[in-house]
Amino acid sequence: MSSIEQFNIPSKLEAISNNGAPLDVQHMNDAVDSFGMETKEFGIEECKDSAQRIFTPEVMENWGQMSPEQRQKLAAEYAESVAENFQLVDFKGLSVEHMEGKNGYNRGDGIVHLSDHLIQSQSSPLQVVDTITHELRHQYQIESIVGHHNVPFETRAEWYAGLETYTSKAPWAEDPVGYKYNPLETDARYAGTSVAQALAKDYLIG
Ligand SMILES: [Zn+2]
Repeated sequence: MSSIEQFNIPSKLEAISNNGAPLDVQHMNDAVDSFGMETKEFGIEECKDSAQRIFTPEVMENWGQMSPEQRQKLAAEYAESVAENFQLVDFKGLSVEHMEGKNGYNRGDGIVHLSDHLIQSQSSPLQVVDTITHELRHQYQIESIVGHHNVPFETRAEWYAGLETYTSKAPWAEDPVGYKYNPLETDARYAGTSVAQALAKDYLIG
């Protein structure tokens, strides 16, 4: 389980304005056409390239023999690349810490929090890639909600509504839109698994 934690939901006022100025909805809708791309695909190909550049077949083979410090260095390098690929405006680095029952989380404050078990010996680089991509995708969503990125208006409205109903705490997490099918989760899961899948495929069949 990876989640957004303790994020202070921006007030409606903050969410619908950008530095005090109303967002240009027409401009945002135009941006869809000029990108010609679905929002969920934004930055994903670039993340696949970053993952393949950093987690080479040699790294994948030797991961089990590396020290936690070496693994953390690679994880931090990948996080840096993902932040660039998602064009994050507020990236503040990777924090590896002990946590129970989850692989990572994001608070919308620019830090990607990764569970220390993912850099211990019984870990997989695929899980590291999946989690970092997933958590930084949440950062991208939060930044989009407050107006830093040109996502389609509908996506932004959907993500804002998702943030309002978001919870990873039982019992509300059992509500489908609370967590599992929350639009923020489906989008972040798509990002993380797409990149991990591409890396696995590259590793398996070249
Ligand atoms: Zn999540």
